[in-house]
Amino acid sequence: MSASAAAIEATRQELLQGLRVLDGEGMFEKAFGHISARVPDSDLIVMMGHVHDHERTLAQTEAEDLIVINSDGGVVEGRFDPPGEFPIHTEVLRARPDVMSVVHCHPHAPVALSITRTPVLPVTWRASIFFPEVPLFLDPRQIETSQHGHELAETLGDGRAVTLLGHGVVCVGASVGQAAVVTIDLNDAARFQLEAMAAGTAYPLPEALVGHRREAPATAEGFTSAWNFYRAKWAGELIT
Ligand SMILES: [Zn+2]
Repeated sequence: MSASAAAIEATRQELLQGLRVLDGEGMFEKAFGHISARVPDSDLIVMMGHVHDHERTLAQTEAEDLIVINSDGGVVEGRFDPPGEFPIHTEVLRARPDVMSVVHCHPHAPVALSITRTPVLPVTWRASIFFPEVPLFLDPRQIETSQHGHELAETLGDGRAVTLLGHGVVCVGASVGQAAVVTIDLNDAARFQLEAMAAGTAYPLPEALVGHRREAPATAEGFTSAWNFYRAKWAGELIT
């Protein structure tokens, strides 16, 4: 399927906003990590090119640094190769037609928690989107083949996120905004959980009361208000 230039450009602008927010919130430690977005009604994916070798930070990323790839990672548009871990994005998007955006990054708290082999639990109201728990992918290696990406997608299942042991996280959403907010919420949940574990036992919230939030769509107020907040907070950083 092909996509119109306007659809690609709209996806590109949305992706830049996601990049700014995630970078601003410290989700891209040492400038590593990536976010992708599916161009609606196509098999095209917009993501940041492999700019790590070009001596700049993610905050200096511009629209021209984004590339368009097909569902196998072939570059359709742009002057960079995709990042080495692009199979995370292509395989998760292939496995999950409901997902429009994928984030892979290495935030501190979920990685620290993974070292205890404990999954991130729905310990706060915001974290109740992760019921019953965030699965742990027990392979810490970089994901650079489609087979490896497929295995990760299987561990993700129909959930919103997966933690890679001692490595990072993969978070998904039905929009760039939702994927970004899920990533920030996952990091916050892991921080609360680690602090609670230092003080005692970290219990998940009562599932009967808040477990329904696992189904919350991208249009749910909990996602849209947080996305609007983060976009406003980092609007000064936006290069459009
Ligand atoms: Zn990684």
